[in-house]
Amino acid sequence: MFDLKGKVAIVTGGNGGIGLGMARGLAGAGARVVVAARNQTKSAAAVRELEKLGGQPLAIAVDVADEASVNALVRSTVDRCGRLDILVNNAGTNVRKQPQDYTLAEWHQVLDTNLTSAFLCSRAAFAPMKAAGGGKIINIGSMMSIFGVSFSPAYGPSKGGLVQLTKSLATAWAKDNIQVNAVLPGWIDTELTQGARRQVPDLHENVLRRTPAGRWGTMEDMAGVAVFLASAASDFVTGTAIPVDGGYSVLG
Ligand code: NDP
Repeated sequence: MFDLKGKVAIVTGGNGGIGLGMARGLAGAGARVVVAARNQTKSAAAVRELEKLGGQPLAIAVDVADEASVNALVRSTVDRCGRLDILVNNAGTNVRKQPQDYTLAEWHQVLDTNLTSAFLCSRAAFAPMKAAGGGKIINIGSMMSIFGVSFSPAYGPSKGGLVQLTKSLATAWAKDNIQVNAVLPGWIDTELTQGARRQVPDLHENVLRRTPAGRWGTMEDMAGVAVFLASAASDFVTGTAIPVDGGYSVLG
């Protein structure tokens, strides 16, 4: 039910953090993983690590905010791997500032990297997934898909929008046997949140206090949900947003 042998998966931002955690899960279940990000030194290191799990991983450079680059990524994946079955829209960024200090360029940077990217990648993936008889798209949202914080006026809208994009794509493509779901991670220890810890006073203590599990999530915590949503185990699951958050979103 969870076997991904013979499947090809693109993981955007798969060279570190949550993306690499999910890529490990997919490769461990037998998928051939395409690590799609900008920094090719980091991507090569991720590929070396994934090779130990099997499945002949490879790296393809992409800027997910650039339409031509995204289309080239999907074309190159199909040319080199023969098919595309799984897309994880994980690449993301944040600019932490009060709304009144935000420039339009910063707004576009966050929206383009987090939300427009998922539209572009999913649109490009549609034809090869349909040709393969179906597919799985996994969008990485956030607790900011649900909650607001004062210092992320573009990140929150981008992640809220990803949940609605998930529902739109799920309803449009269900007839093509393409399931589209979102994962809403809680606070996970990655480069992104190490930056947040430096910028936001008391964040570390607040996360520990606010998370019922009493700890930060790890890259390893993200592997299981990726395998579930990428495999036949979730064939009747579409349009949902699944928190993986140590209980953060249910604490009253
Ligand atoms: P990281 O900073 O470790 O990873 C971000 C990834 O995105 C990197 O691999 C980076 O690779 C890639 N990326 C960024 N911009 C682009 C771009 N324009 N084109 C291609 N790739 C890009 O952060 P996380 O692992 O923490 O974050 C991964 C996702 O999870 C993000 O969407 C984030 O919003 C989300 N998330 C994280 C949470 C957390 O607590 N850590 C909580 C909730 C959601 P490169 O620089 O090489 O391009």
